[in-house]
Amino acid sequence: MNNTFDILIVGGGPIGLACGLEAEKAGLSYQIIEKGTITNSLFNYPLNMTFFSTADRLEIGGFPFPSIHPKPNRSEALEYYRRVADIGQLNILLFEEVTGISREGALYLTSTSKGNYQSRYVILATGFYDIPNLLAIPGEDLPKVRHYYYDPHYYYKQKVLVVGANNSSADVALETWRKGAEVTMVVRESELGRIKYWIKPDLENRIAEGSIKAYFNSKLTEIREQEVDIQTPEGKVTIPNDFVMAMTGYQPNFAFLEKVGVKLSDDFYRHPYHNPETMETNLPGLYLAGVVCGGMETHVWFIENSREHAVKIVQDILKK
Ligand SMILES: Cc1cc2nc3c(=O)[nH]c(=O)nc-3n(C[C@H](O)[C@H](O)[C@H](O)COP(=O)(O)OP(=O)(O)OC[C@H]3O[C@@H](n4cnc5c(N)ncnc54)[C@H](O)[C@@H]3O)c2cc1C
Repeated sequence: MNNTFDILIVGGGPIGLACGLEAEKAGLSYQIIEKGTITNSLFNYPLNMTFFSTADRLEIGGFPFPSIHPKPNRSEALEYYRRVADIGQLNILLFEEVTGISREGALYLTSTSKGNYQSRYVILATGFYDIPNLLAIPGEDLPKVRHYYYDPHYYYKQKVLVVGANNSSADVALETWRKGAEVTMVVRESELGRIKYWIKPDLENRIAEGSIKAYFNSKLTEIREQEVDIQTPEGKVTIPNDFVMAMTGYQPNFAFLEKVGVKLSDDFYRHPYHNPETMETNLPGLYLAGVVCGGMETHVWFIENSREHAVKIVQDILKK
């Protein structure tokens, strides 16, 4: 196998695939390396999720995304990206993790769990969905604490505590409640957060009628096998509990970015340095693409608005 390429792309999410398609169009040799299955993050999304974007805005490489409903669901998106990879004959290696990237002369050397590769350019399209933001409270390591949510059926007749007040928390609270869970929400702020405008009134009404209990201006402070402690403005409340759904968001793999040598901003957001015109980082020839670019601001980039990174990067490479 030839292990030398023009571009090595780390991550086989929608944006990593888009970079491969763009490289292919430009006649550049490339290899995508993905540590899980193709579009691994999407595979781990909730079973019943529907994208907020319409199908056309999730398209990559100019391949049409036919969908009966305007907004596709998880299975349709998985089907679409799989078909794109097939039809576009993308060069993608799966279940192979990139563990290190270093520079030797004019080339980047990439080591993985299965081998070594050389390339003139590297694109990091590693996303942010693998590392959850932790609560850092006693009991967080209990098996009943979940940072990912899949199927509401599992929580039937269970006492579920949902931490957070954004889109994911709203979906978990409403779905599990509708499938028979007893749901309580703990919200740090005084009101609900960033929730899709067509979902928010549903949750507000369920809270107002008392079907879902919500503690605002409150913090979960301890998790035990059968109960949890919540610090509320009225003092500490202890309630019985079977599952804690900590929907507190995720973060890029900063340790990996730093190990590679990508500069991060000193503030809380840890924005990885990149030129927004070209997407090139402080390391010449090493680019960022997709949601990884936002650092801790994980709501800034999504598929819709980061597909264009692929075009910017390949244009910049062609200029060199
Ligand atoms: C519930 C939910 C709903 C969403 N709905 C929408 C929507 O409607 N519209 C929209 O535009 N966006 C939506 N998004 C956001 C969108 O899914 C992400 O923006 C998208 O996945 C970003 O693509 P990406 O390729 O940048 O990152 P990812 O899809 O996260 O891909 C990164 C890939 O890199 C791989 N990887 C990481 N590290 C390594 C390594 N060291 N070696 C090899 N591989 C590695 C990961 O396994 C992963 O497959 C939604 C997100 C969520 C959570």
